[in-house]
Amino acid sequence: MYDYLVVGAGLYGAVFAREMTDKGYKCLVIDKRPHIAGNVYTEEIENINVHKYGAHIFHTSEKQVWDYVNRFAEFNRYTNAPVANYKGEIYNLPFNMNTFNKMWGVITPNEARAKIEQQRAAANIDNPKNLEEQAISLVGIDIYEKLIKHYTEKQWGRPCSELPSFIIRRLPVRFIYDNNYFNDLYQGIAIGGYTKMVEKMLEGIEVRLNTNYLENRQELEKFAKTVVYTGPIDEYFGYSKGHLQYRSVRFETEILDTDNFQGNAVVNYTDGDTPYTRIIEHKHFEFGTQQKTVISREYSAEWKPGDEPYYPVNDEKNGKLYEEYKKMAEKEKNVIFGGRLGEYKYYDMDKVILSALQKAESIGK
Ligand code: UDP
Repeated sequence: MYDYLVVGAGLYGAVFAREMTDKGYKCLVIDKRPHIAGNVYTEEIENINVHKYGAHIFHTSEKQVWDYVNRFAEFNRYTNAPVANYKGEIYNLPFNMNTFNKMWGVITPNEARAKIEQQRAAANIDNPKNLEEQAISLVGIDIYEKLIKHYTEKQWGRPCSELPSFIIRRLPVRFIYDNNYFNDLYQGIAIGGYTKMVEKMLEGIEVRLNTNYLENRQELEKFAKTVVYTGPIDEYFGYSKGHLQYRSVRFETEILDTDNFQGNAVVNYTDGDTPYTRIIEHKHFEFGTQQKTVISREYSAEWKPGDEPYYPVNDEKNGKLYEEYKKMAEKEKNVIFGGRLGEYKYYDMDKVILSALQKAESIGK
């Protein structure tokens, strides 16, 4: 009945279904949740688009991807510039001259470089082997202690000395006064929310919500020649090799009777005592002027069955286990595994879109 059964109506599934539909294939998209858009889902509360599964700020350097998303939504000029609150001291992120000035009183890039060099020499790290060593050799011990260590350990639930350094390489270090969190050429938030964007991607494509693939596999499999699976790869195989670890996030969302709670969309709490990692004030993503505001406190936790998986834990142990599942996946006839959960990869939105576009392109007419 269909050429493709796409399991998951998140970005990977929606982009893949759009592309294949436009090539003339027939797609059915299913999702176990009662809504489309996966974790980029936004919901209107008090006239504010609330990022229900955590903040999603679109950024990319791929012109192809930027042009692609702009077909489905208009993007505003939002530039992410989070601030860190360390026991009441406020620092700009990512690490840049504003951060260095506040931390050490240095004014010029040369002074900042000298300060970091001095701390790097004192730490005596030649060849950083983990996130802790990488961070200290990049920005020195003071920034590591106040802005990195506790935030990272709260987010990942593991000591920084056991985490891979690539996690922190996402964060720029700049010797200019520039608080833009990303280095990418293009950045913004979909005006009106990402749900509308994904809705537009799925225009004219059949979507069934509240439909759990793994629970109804035998029946659903009959619908299509090929399955595109964007759920957790270990779950697909019934955890036969063991559980991959994920980090989950719990959000405490509140409507407040004030028009401006924290003066910024993202405030990170980088101390070890505050139990949440950050507070998102959603209206600031779209420069909202509503009378009320909606905030979400973000608590990070180890994933357990029944929770939503958010982040793959890319350490060595999980990497090896994933390789085993990947081999099984390669043998699985007529199934394509894609997306953050299907490929167990800490993908950004643009990279997921690119990977779905490339997959669709590789299939041809
Ligand atoms: N990070 C940090 N301090 C911060 C913000 C980020 O040390 O105030 C590090 C931390 O290791 C974290 C990584 O940068 O795991 C990526 O953080 P980000 O908030 O960008 O990740 P997201 O959840 O947005 O994907």
